[in-house]
Amino acid sequence: MSLPILEHADKYVCRSVNDMSLPSLLEPDRHWMKLALREAERAYEEKEVPVGAVVVRDGIVLGKGHNMVEQLKDPTAHAEMIAITAACSAAGDKRLDGCTLYVTLEPCPMCAGAIVWSRLTRLVFGAFDEKAGSCSTLYNIPRDRRLNHLVEVVSGILAEDSAALLRSFFAERRLAAGPSGS
Ligand code: ZN
Repeated sequence: MSLPILEHADKYVCRSVNDMSLPSLLEPDRHWMKLALREAERAYEEKEVPVGAVVVRDGIVLGKGHNMVEQLKDPTAHAEMIAITAACSAAGDKRLDGCTLYVTLEPCPMCAGAIVWSRLTRLVFGAFDEKAGSCSTLYNIPRDRRLNHLVEVVSGILAEDSAALLRSFFAERRLAAGPSGS
């Protein structure tokens, strides 16, 4: 069977073709990203910068986590690091072949490094991070051919939900800091 979407990609509009429209192909990614967003909301409730992550393999969640830097007083306690550590522990393996990491915000250099070292197959992230993003914005560590592992990257999934959560968090924090607060 031919793939009409690919043949007509140049004039593609969001239209279902044999149940293979672009939205339906992205549906699993949106599903898991919603779970990552739920983790981000937990971080928000715990007064942490709201970022959440889940590691999935064959439709099963191997690990999840949210930012816990303040609670643990640990600069490495980013959502991705916690989710990767949990997934390795669940898999009983230092490598996460065949796994996808879903994270609500573009990973920083530390997490992008951990994504490569854990040999994740795919990375799906939501909002772009202009300040520290290392998966396209400032650097592109998962796609750097000088490293010994390349990760497939999909960006912008439910990005607006993720960005809205972050905006609301920082607005609230500024309000709490008072009119003279930074
Ligand atoms: Zn990070």
